[in-house]
Amino acid sequence: MIVVQSIAECRSQCDRLGPLALVPTMGALHRGHLRLIELAKEHARHVAVSIFVNPTQFGPRDDLTKYPRPLGKDLQMCREAGADLVFNPTVAEMYPDGAGGIVFDLPQLSRVLEGEFRPGHFAGVCQIVAKLFNIVRPASACFGEKDYQQLRILTRMVEELNWPIEIVPCPTVRDADGLALSSRNQYLSAEERQRALAISRGLFAAREEFTGGVRQAERLVATVRNALSALPIDYVAVVDAMTLQNVQKIERPAVIAVAARVGSTRLIDNVILRS
Ligand code: AMP
Repeated sequence: MIVVQSIAECRSQCDRLGPLALVPTMGALHRGHLRLIELAKEHARHVAVSIFVNPTQFGPRDDLTKYPRPLGKDLQMCREAGADLVFNPTVAEMYPDGAGGIVFDLPQLSRVLEGEFRPGHFAGVCQIVAKLFNIVRPASACFGEKDYQQLRILTRMVEELNWPIEIVPCPTVRDADGLALSSRNQYLSAEERQRALAISRGLFAAREEFTGGVRQAERLVATVRNALSALPIDYVAVVDAMTLQNVQKIERPAVIAVAARVGSTRLIDNVILRS
């Protein structure tokens, strides 16, 4: 496995490898990321993983400085998972003139849900993913459904800009007790982790109601809110899976999306509803 830090070297190694699938990450890898790498291997002969904690997607109150960066362990995991190349640039390499620059905006998709609570977050995500796409020039790129809104926005970005890149969605990987894997779970104490289980429990209960025939979004939201009653909630919403706009009666694929706080940790999760 090759590890590169410079854009120039990344480009030349990617050219040498031929058609690639890219897995963009911020490191602190877990089984969810490994599943993305496996999926990437099913889509292309070679797999590149980027590990970069992108400052432009963090807000002033976010956890940029304390975000975990266990690089040695991450590289080991990439190696064991069979990645061919890891791109691990510095902030100065990616943003030599500071973080300003171009702003990508897909307002209809990026202002709702996370966008309401983390202004500018998706502009930062689109900026870094666009840069990575131009550096690696992958044939496909894998993103997790855990960050459903991000997946939807990036899919739309690629469609609107006619980039010849296939966006491959990966189902959310969870611990046996239901908690969606996240690099941020390591901030949780044992007691907080137990309380965090209310999120997946609430979502699963609502999904069961949907499977049982309930189509009123309001009822599903009430079920999730009920399960989360002990946690501060940023939002619980049932949105159209394509437009991310709120729906009242579910007649097309939809997503129940949640953001809640457990102690000082903010967690997001969702389930996709398809009849
Ligand atoms: P991150 O390192 O948190 O930026 O995530 C990198 C990629 O891994 C994104 O496409 C995420 O959606 C995906 N991802 C994170 N957690 C999970 C999970 N539990 N299951 C599936 N994909 C995930």
